[in-house]
Amino acid sequence: MSAVANQEIKLIARASEGRQNFWSLTLPELEQVMDGWGQPTYRARQVFQWAYKELAEDFADMGNLPRELRERLAETYSLVNLRAERDLISKDRQTYKALLALPDGQTIEAVLMLYEARATVCVSSQVGCAIGCPFCASGQMGLQRNLNAGEIVEQVIYFSRFLRRWHAGTAGELGSGITVPAEIQNVTNLVFMGMGEPLANYNNLWRAIRNLNAAHGLAMGARRMTVSTSGLVPRIEQFAREPEEVNLAISLHAANDELRDQMVPINKKWPVARLMEAASTYIATTNRRLSYEWALIQGVNDAPERAEELAIAIKGQLCHVNVIPLNPVSNTPFHRSSRQHIHDFQAVLTAHGIPNTVRIEKGVDIQAACGQLKAEQQGLTTVTED
Ligand code: SF4
Repeated sequence: MSAVANQEIKLIARASEGRQNFWSLTLPELEQVMDGWGQPTYRARQVFQWAYKELAEDFADMGNLPRELRERLAETYSLVNLRAERDLISKDRQTYKALLALPDGQTIEAVLMLYEARATVCVSSQVGCAIGCPFCASGQMGLQRNLNAGEIVEQVIYFSRFLRRWHAGTAGELGSGITVPAEIQNVTNLVFMGMGEPLANYNNLWRAIRNLNAAHGLAMGARRMTVSTSGLVPRIEQFAREPEEVNLAISLHAANDELRDQMVPINKKWPVARLMEAASTYIATTNRRLSYEWALIQGVNDAPERAEELAIAIKGQLCHVNVIPLNPVSNTPFHRSSRQHIHDFQAVLTAHGIPNTVRIEKGVDIQAACGQLKAEQQGLTTVTED
């Protein structure tokens, strides 16, 4: 880490010292605070308006609030708790990955991916990850800590602010490296597929989702959000009962226990048959289509027999399979499958009538798979391109 970056982290730490992350707050909580401070409760809505709609970075800018209230808010809460330590833009100018420093000096990754009319942010939910999938850079770090709800929300705010600055022509050198289609004014979609297992940080995840979804928050439709899990069965069943229609994806990667025990070690606790029960419960409870993610790894899970196993395991489910040729991480023995293997794997699923897509990950040239940039920073990996 450079001396400048170190200095910046210290500055954020000092700036938010003793103050709470504003983005963790719900509107009713801020209304209670206003009440306790002898303020009319409508002040809370005004603050939310400034924070989520105007993307204010400083309470001092909230011009329709009394000065004393602005000062008290600034003493109590912080609107900026993340600072980009590294920014990377892909060669195709459509993917922007940020290594974001938290006030305690930990770092997480978040990625903005631009499509024709969509701006999707890939959000981290934990620092590191306890699940330990051997092909994943985050899995090699172990779990450092959960993110609080504010740190999850603020990753989206970070990119919302960036898009706002880009359209205003004030995004500087970084802005000149990326091309934002005119119709994309804000973040449109979220995938909770960054560092960490989101369902292992369940309460903070949902607090964040609700602030992002609320009309007084970022007003992002629940159906535009997808949470990805490695297979925490009790949490999948709980997720199915949540009222918001957030999409769920299961990172399956193998449909037999022997292989999945190695690839996604949580499988030893909740094996494939139990996971399939939870998946069926989710579909029956929500009547929503479930996604399966399958990172296709050469010689590991890309044989037609593995596709057959998958097809049999999920047959009859309202589901879709995303086949994702691996974004390879060095210092691991895993490589991306060949085009022929990708094609053959997909052909088996199609023959079984299972809807599927091959998704080539964006931003391969900037280490966009989860945890790769942080792992590289920590000297755990270097990133390779096939
Ligand atoms: S793939 Fe997901 S669940 Fe597995 S170690 Fe990486 S972040 Fe954790």
